[in-house]
Amino acid sequence: MAKDIFHPNFKARPYWWEFSAPDALEETAPPERADVVVVGGGFAGLNAALELARRGTEVTVLESGPFGQGASTRNAGHVSSGSNLGKAPSAAQRSPVERLLGAAKYQAILEEAGRSFEHLEELIEREEIDCDWRVKGRFVGALTPRHFRSLAEKNAGQRGVRVVEHSEQHAEIASDFYHGGVVVERAGQLNPARYHRGLMTACQREGVTLIANCPASGIRRESGQFIVKTPKGEIRADGVFLGTNGYTDGLIPWLRRRVIPLGSYIIATEPLGPERAAALIPTGRTINDTKRVLSYFRLSPDGTRLLFGGRESFRPIDERGSARLLHRTMLRVFPQLRGVQITHSWTGNVAFSFDFLPHMGIVDGVHYAVGCNGSGVAMMSYLGYRTALTMAGGNEKSAFETLVHPGRWFYRETPWFMPIVGRYYQLRDAWDRLLSNTARSS
Ligand SMILES: Cc1cc2nc3c(=O)[nH]c(=O)nc-3n(C[C@H](O)[C@H](O)[C@H](O)COP(=O)(O)OP(=O)(O)OC[C@H]3O[C@@H](n4cnc5c(N)ncnc54)[C@H](O)[C@@H]3O)c2cc1C
Repeated sequence: MAKDIFHPNFKARPYWWEFSAPDALEETAPPERADVVVVGGGFAGLNAALELARRGTEVTVLESGPFGQGASTRNAGHVSSGSNLGKAPSAAQRSPVERLLGAAKYQAILEEAGRSFEHLEELIEREEIDCDWRVKGRFVGALTPRHFRSLAEKNAGQRGVRVVEHSEQHAEIASDFYHGGVVVERAGQLNPARYHRGLMTACQREGVTLIANCPASGIRRESGQFIVKTPKGEIRADGVFLGTNGYTDGLIPWLRRRVIPLGSYIIATEPLGPERAAALIPTGRTINDTKRVLSYFRLSPDGTRLLFGGRESFRPIDERGSARLLHRTMLRVFPQLRGVQITHSWTGNVAFSFDFLPHMGIVDGVHYAVGCNGSGVAMMSYLGYRTALTMAGGNEKSAFETLVHPGRWFYRETPWFMPIVGRYYQLRDAWDRLLSNTARSS
């Protein structure tokens, strides 16, 4: 009989919560007044609060549940330079986003995305956040030979990127699943729950008021000020920042129509032992691939487990169901892990935008930063920080502020179209793979 994939100590919660679980803090009543109210206690909200407080602003952060319940403690802890954008080598290969924005604007976005990585590095160092931060690079595996050629062309001559032929791939990953790939040197990894905890501590040190289990349920204007309504009372404020990303509710309907929440899923294997784990990813880099519905994986910071993630389902599914799907995909990449059990399985919401770009802006006088598109450890931290600079009166505009934030007439509250779009992408991945296998065997 096949061994159960679930370990006897299986937990349907993030592996990271073993190190720092969401925190309801001590019960606190909201103040009657604050200079700025921040809604959402994830990376974006806490970064905004921290920077504002460092500049002498009185800040209250409202979190609808315990601090850390959102995506910020649920992600894989891969840190890219902020977004999944990349420069095309020729006009013909430009992505729709690149064509839409034009070369100059696109370049400005790329440069600022790069700055998000620096911001994170400096922040971790300045605030002495102990979060297993390492810069080891990232390997991007090509699903098919065609994907490999396209990756190689797109990255040829780019500083800090190295093309890895299929024949050299085993130095990066103990798998023949991919057809070569590229190594991006400037990529990091961390324990997201410990980073989040460090941010909370830094905020508290700067005098930020953190209020858990306190959703903002309404925002209105009165005599030039904002009144933020909560079940525990109202707060009068000069400014409001919304950092609610994949958990954006109907507080500002305009914003909800521009954020598409989508579940992403991760499993953690039982401890494999350092040697067996290191043999899977000898360089210890983070890994993702060129699938439209991508897989992303890495070793745990102590180097003993594999953490394997992906967007396996576009419909609601429980943690055991998603674990089964992820386990199956994991065995395609690493068949040598057959029989290995899963100790943790969890999910969280990422926030897509219709143009696949992160956004910061102002609506009805309220500042916001949303739209990580699955890559927000550095980017949402940066956009929170960047919004704080704008709110504090800085006059240098961020490139992300200059973007039009698109909505669509067919989307109001429920992303009904995602199961259809997701299935279509999954089928295209399967088709690409099938074609390349057929070509190889003929
Ligand atoms: C499974 C998964 C894997 C991921 N992997 C990676 C990765 O490897 N690398 C990477 O860069 N990114 C990754 N991401 C994305 C990354 O986690 C997010 O971009 C980032 O955490 C977003 O931070 P945030 O502060 O904007 O939002 P969140 O951390 O989601 O915080 C938003 C908060 O707002 C609160 N909220 C909502 N409405 C209200 C309200 N009305 N009142 C009060 N509070 C409210 C929510 O409770 C929530 O806590 C992943 C995401 C998921 C889900």
